[in-house]
Amino acid sequence: MTIQNNISNVKTRIEQAAKQCQRSPQDITLLAVSKTKPCEAILEAIAAGQRQFGENYVQEGVEKIQYFADKYPLTWHFIGPLQSNKSRLVAEHFDWFHTLDRVKIAQRLNDQRPNDKAPLNVLIQINISDENSKSGIKLEQLDELAHQVSQMPNLILRGLMTIPAPETHYERQCAAFHQMEQAYQQLQTHYPTVDTLSMGMTDDMEAAIHCGSTLVRIGTAIFGARDYTKS
Ligand SMILES: *Cc1c(COP(=O)(O)O)cnc(C)c1O
Repeated sequence: MTIQNNISNVKTRIEQAAKQCQRSPQDITLLAVSKTKPCEAILEAIAAGQRQFGENYVQEGVEKIQYFADKYPLTWHFIGPLQSNKSRLVAEHFDWFHTLDRVKIAQRLNDQRPNDKAPLNVLIQINISDENSKSGIKLEQLDELAHQVSQMPNLILRGLMTIPAPETHYERQCAAFHQMEQAYQQLQTHYPTVDTLSMGMTDDMEAAIHCGSTLVRIGTAIFGARDYTKS
C-alpha cells in the first residue's frame, strides 16, 4: 500500500463515519501524524494533497518544519508532551499546540511566541480516562486553565484534545469521547474562539467522529507502523 492509497482509505473512513451520524466530512480535519517518519514519507503525503502534520518530538519536528519551509504551505501541530525547557522551539516554529496541561507552559509559550507570527493555536489536553497517565488535566480543572489561557494575547484557545486509555470496544471508546463532547460544547458557550475537538487515532477514529471530533490524528493508518528501535 502506498501512502497515497492509505490517505485515500482514511478519507473514506472519515466520510463513512461522518455520514453515519449525519455530519459533514468537511467538518473533520485530517491531521497526518508523521513522528519517527522521514521527510520522504511526508513528501508522499504532500503529493496526495495532505497539508497538516503532527509531530511529537520537538527537535525532530523543528527539523522537518525547516526542511519544508518555503517549499509548501504546511501547518504543523505539536502533539507530544512538552518539557518547559523546550517550549521556545515550539513557540517559534509550530502553528498549533495540542497538549497544554499547565499554566506555566502556557505562560512560557505566550512570552516566547515571536511578534511576527500569528498567535499560537492552543488545545487543552484532558486526561479523560487514563488514571496512570500524567498528561492532561482533569475536567474539574478546565475552567481555570481555559480562563488563564484566554487572557494571553499570543495564544488562541481553540479547544480540547484527549488520548483516552486504549479500548477495543466501540461503546467503551464512545463513553470517554462523549464526556469530551459535553465539555467541549460547554467550553464553546464561554469562548467564541473554540472550534476544535482533537480526538480519534487510527484505532478509534470512528467513535471519535461519532462523538463530535473535528480533528482526527492519524499516524499508523497513513504511514504504517512506527519503528522506534532506530532512534
Ligand atoms: C502517535 C500519536 C497519534 C497517532 O496514533 P496512530 O494510532 O498511529 O494513528 C495520535 N495522537 C497522538 C497524541 C500521538 O502521539
